Amino acid sequence: MSGTFVLSGTSIFDGESIHDGCGLLISEGMIAGFSQLENLPTDCPQVKISSGLLAPGFTDLQVNGGGGVLLNQQPTMSAIETICKAHLQFGTTGLLPTLITDTPEITTRAIEAGIQASSAGVPGFLGLHLEGPHLSPGKKGAHYPTLIRQMSDDDCDQLIAAKAQLPNLMVTVAPESVSNEQISRLAGAGIVVSLGHSEATFEQAKAARRAGASCLTHLYNAMSPLTHRKPGMVGAGLAPLGYHCGLIADGHHVDPDVIAISLAAKRGSGTIFLVSDAMATIGTDMKQFELNGRTIHRKDGHLTLADGTLAGADLELGSAVRFLVNEVGVELEEALRMACVYPQNCLYGTENRAVLAEGAQANIVHLDDGLNICGVWQEGEPLSDDL
Ligand SMILES: [Zn+2]
Repeated sequence: MSGTFVLSGTSIFDGESIHDGCGLLISEGMIAGFSQLENLPTDCPQVKISSGLLAPGFTDLQVNGGGGVLLNQQPTMSAIETICKAHLQFGTTGLLPTLITDTPEITTRAIEAGIQASSAGVPGFLGLHLEGPHLSPGKKGAHYPTLIRQMSDDDCDQLIAAKAQLPNLMVTVAPESVSNEQISRLAGAGIVVSLGHSEATFEQAKAARRAGASCLTHLYNAMSPLTHRKPGMVGAGLAPLGYHCGLIADGHHVDPDVIAISLAAKRGSGTIFLVSDAMATIGTDMKQFELNGRTIHRKDGHLTLADGTLAGADLELGSAVRFLVNEVGVELEEALRMACVYPQNCLYGTENRAVLAEGAQANIVHLDDGLNICGVWQEGEPLSDDL
């Protein structure tokens, strides 16, 4: 339903708190009003939701694939469309398609595809995330070791030129492969610099933060741990340095008790937000796929290389929210903020575009009492049956 309508009938979480007896006036893809029902117009179509909760759509800043495609395998605009559509049914209304370490040629093609997707206005496309290749071989995870390399000044220039044509660009880099001067240049150009796949010390992470890095990629996974004498990157993520931290909440990447401890410990202006790190499997029943010529196997809710190394996640943000609430004991409102508000804080700073308020894009999810996604509106358009 495009045009103008009123969405009401159940509780609404606006990104801050839950409201009852209210409705949303949606017009031309935007929220034109959010108030008590008696203040909303009655002379336009009314969409009544009888139970559950309406909340802002989710934003996922690390999505390698979905709907059977992987950006590395198909660095094209059509693959980006497929990935965005595959995640929409799970409540994700905006995402960053993410390229895992690959060759310079594939990286260039992915950037071109992103620029095309931006010009075409692909629904849900918020920009690109390039995870690697400037990482630490010692924390390679599933990244192909011989493709990992130091950042050259040409690489830095290419990223800055790409950002000029993309709505958002996030890069995951390791301080071992990127200088603080390069981090400053990237951040100065508006690129979100996230540290990951790194054995950096707390001091190195602190120096990178001063240089302009603002995020840590999948907290705990593929990074120097927090120990009693060496706070490492995890310590830098939790300390009040202002780092935002992506987190994969699937029960395989980080223990639920460690998630609870981390949420209690996190201080300062940064947040811990959910990412899926999803691969091609999302929205499909495929059991395996290829990454850089290697087979990744899907079994029991996780994805691994033949040697057992975790290779992305068999996860989308709807499941991650349920995991936080049901297995970690996170309050529902905070779990939702971790899926819809905090990722936006990481991308846009304190300007919060996710809150359901007048003037915001009408990106809305409907969750039932079991927190299953049973409806999605993206820019005011309901999820169509052909997804
Ligand atoms: Zn990774």
